[in-house]
Amino acid sequence: MTGLIHSRRRFMVLSSATLAAAPWLASCASAEGGAAIPAKAIGMPWPNWGELPDSPPPAPQEGSVGFAVMGLGGYAIGKVLPALANGQRCHVAAVVSGNPEKAKKVAAAYGLPEDAIYSYEDFDRIADDDRVEAVYNVLPTGLHMRWTEKSFAAGKHVLCEKPMALSSEECERMIAASEAAGKKLMIGYRCHFEPFNLRAMELMRDGAVGPIKSIETAQQYMMGPTDVSENWRVVRALAGGGPLEDYGLYGLQSALYLSGEMPVAVKAVTEQPANDPRFAEIFSSVTTELRFPSGATAHLYTSYNDAPSRNLARVEGEAGVLLMDPATGYDGQKMTLTRDGVSEDLVPGDPNVQFARMCDHMAAAIRDGSEILTPGEMGLRDIVLIEAIYRSAAEGREITL
Ligand code: NAD
Repeated sequence: MTGLIHSRRRFMVLSSATLAAAPWLASCASAEGGAAIPAKAIGMPWPNWGELPDSPPPAPQEGSVGFAVMGLGGYAIGKVLPALANGQRCHVAAVVSGNPEKAKKVAAAYGLPEDAIYSYEDFDRIADDDRVEAVYNVLPTGLHMRWTEKSFAAGKHVLCEKPMALSSEECERMIAASEAAGKKLMIGYRCHFEPFNLRAMELMRDGAVGPIKSIETAQQYMMGPTDVSENWRVVRALAGGGPLEDYGLYGLQSALYLSGEMPVAVKAVTEQPANDPRFAEIFSSVTTELRFPSGATAHLYTSYNDAPSRNLARVEGEAGVLLMDPATGYDGQKMTLTRDGVSEDLVPGDPNVQFARMCDHMAAAIRDGSEILTPGEMGLRDIVLIEAIYRSAAEGREITL
């Protein structure tokens, strides 16, 4: 109990941006240790964030794509289900969960019949369910590959959360499964549908700061007490190396889409403090330097062990600076462009549109055969870079790509 109170107190001081990145924090009960959460699909309790609608969404429009939401955690309940319900061309058609009470509650809130509730054990019968055309995989990362493969085997398209998987080999298997099934695979990189990040990409393409000299990104927060028995984000088999895959991936992605380049070399350092149950299996922080063909560089920092929370991207060019702080949140983005000593705050739109836009993008790809902006190949590309980052840190040298 003391541990619980302590956890909650620690949690209270964390910002909403932190909560967005780490919804598990508030449910961390103790740091007493124990067996790690198993790397298989199981039912977990109701998450500590995410609200259900007061009344079910209206009936879907003709031609709308039905999605089964797999894994009813914080992000699924807080963002994915509302996004599917708010989209123009998509809707929630089923849920997949290992927790029957939770699944029933969610299904009722979204107006789903009982036979649209699937468990992991009876998931395969979804193959005969024509109401479901796609699966939105919102499971912990270490389960993405297995359940994406099963979804393709059931004849469904898959929108899979980031990071795509734990290794490039897993990503390649997911892409192969998509091709074998003749079904689409998209990765939930929501920033590609978010007005601030889209505007930033456009500004950089238009040379708004002149030739880019350097990019800095930082994605960090102080993780509260937790351990491998209670939080999949600190279990290597479910989360990989930790903060880089979970949060630093936003900084890595930003460096790529703001520079418009792929790095030619990577050099990195990881930290993993001893005797800290949060970091028994994962790294606490990762610092990465990227070198691009143009000569531009990027400095990326991500950490679960640093306060205050930060989520920024800064591009310095020969003719100006673009600062995004916060850069990649669910909302609350801020963006400032400075040129000739004059700073201008840019507000290109409402970040909240990113979730529904992303789901509609997948629906359009399914219905119209349009190109997916964030396909499995992009997820694979990023995991290949993450592997190079870890290899550089392990070998203590720059890796040429
Ligand atoms: P969460 O812990 O809140 O939810 C995970 C869900 O998976 C739970 O409902 C749980 O019941 C289910 N589950 C099944 N097997 C499990 C197991 N062995 N261990 C733990 N949970 C298990 O996590 P989340 O924050 O919702 O993250 C889920 C996925 O969504 C991850 O891939 C994460 O990276 C991604 N995510 C993306 C964003 C984004 O902004 N795009 C934000 C948060 C999370």
